[in-house]
Amino acid sequence: MGDLFSEAAKERQAETAPLATRLRPRALDELIGQQHVLGERSALRLAIEQDRPPSMILFGPPGTGKTTIARIVAERTGAVFEELSAVSARVDDVRAVIARARDRLGGNDLRTILFIDEIHRFNKGQQDSVLHAVEDGLVTLIGATTENPYFEVNSALLSRCTVIELTALSEEELGEIVRRGAGALEAEASEDVRALVAKRAGGDARAALQILELAHATASAESAPITEEHVLDASRKRPFLYDRKGDQHYDFASAFIKSMRGGDADAAVYYLAAMLEAGEDPRFIARRMVILASEDVGNADPRALTVAVAAAHALELVGLPEAQLNLSQAAIYLARAPKSNASALAIWEARKDVREHGNARPPAMLRSTGHSQAAKARGHGEGYVYPHDDPASFELEYLPEPLRGRRYYRPSGNGEEAGEESGDDSADR
Ligand code: ADP
Repeated sequence: MGDLFSEAAKERQAETAPLATRLRPRALDELIGQQHVLGERSALRLAIEQDRPPSMILFGPPGTGKTTIARIVAERTGAVFEELSAVSARVDDVRAVIARARDRLGGNDLRTILFIDEIHRFNKGQQDSVLHAVEDGLVTLIGATTENPYFEVNSALLSRCTVIELTALSEEELGEIVRRGAGALEAEASEDVRALVAKRAGGDARAALQILELAHATASAESAPITEEHVLDASRKRPFLYDRKGDQHYDFASAFIKSMRGGDADAAVYYLAAMLEAGEDPRFIARRMVILASEDVGNADPRALTVAVAAAHALELVGLPEAQLNLSQAAIYLARAPKSNASALAIWEARKDVREHGNARPPAMLRSTGHSQAAKARGHGEGYVYPHDDPASFELEYLPEPLRGRRYYRPSGNGEEAGEESGDDSADR
């Protein structure tokens, strides 16, 4: 029964699936572009055709064929295709896939291709468990990533994989994909319309087909052929949150930081959610919070730094999706915490003085005496008072001579910096 239902579901999906899914190439020859890695005599193509695909990391922008190639490899080599998204998979999911792969290999001598989308998002523990399965020959790994794997993927895992870089599709290549799409939709699309779709897709075949499909839907509703207006409209509406690499990435990150700085916990959580939905790298988000904890909360609430670092650490331990709870808690904590930029101003001003004055030497009483008589003879250590023995030491000047009396730390008066008055000597202890 279950099988009957799933067969029926598959059939329905074939009709209702998005155009991009329906047009996913099923053989290497149907793939457009990427000839530099998959051309006739390329090592990768030969390996796939001779049924000995290596574990590989496919690195390239969205919609260039990473998932498609992985599926073709599985189909071509008669292996079972298992797919995990690094964004949502838990350690248990990884273990279950590996256990199934082991059973298959032992039971029916069937091999498994493990496809991991956004592999750079796997935490270290997960990358390690996959590494062992690859080393033991239980799975052939195909990882996909939009980030440079040399920076983002565990080097032990990387050393066992062939890295294949896919490139954004050219407008000409996209034009060909759009022509196929129009054919499948039985849509009328002039050459100018097809060229515009290709242009608006920004190198991404999925985007091209989504724009075409949306433009076609509007045009059909009007019983008209697709016009350039339809295309422009569709490319604006295309369901996308933001491009992680583009300006919007910075807009959202900036709004997130400013909401926490401004004490708006709701806005902070909203922008956090938007970034997570868009597939933003959660480590980037955690790093921003750790910085903000010192830059904008500082010693008005020194626990903020602990909370932010703990969230960053929790992210490494737990991974997404659960680590969204840790990130949310930290974002709310940081938004609600009293604010002080006194530590930030202090280090910025002190560094400016260092640059302007050169490294002004510490007063002789503070210089190292070591064990050297010569140093003592030069007056090093003279006049120094040990604070535990004599409170008079609190009255001494510790700054170098040219900077005497300089104040870098000016407490904000907020939170735990309340009651400390700026410029007062007592604040300097
Ligand atoms: P990603 O690189 O993000 O994994 P996919 O391989 O899932 O992209 O591609 C998404 C869709 O875009 C596919 O279903 C297919 O319709 C189309 N596509 C992507 N790359 C190509 C390509 N090189 N040739 C033809 N169609 C492609």
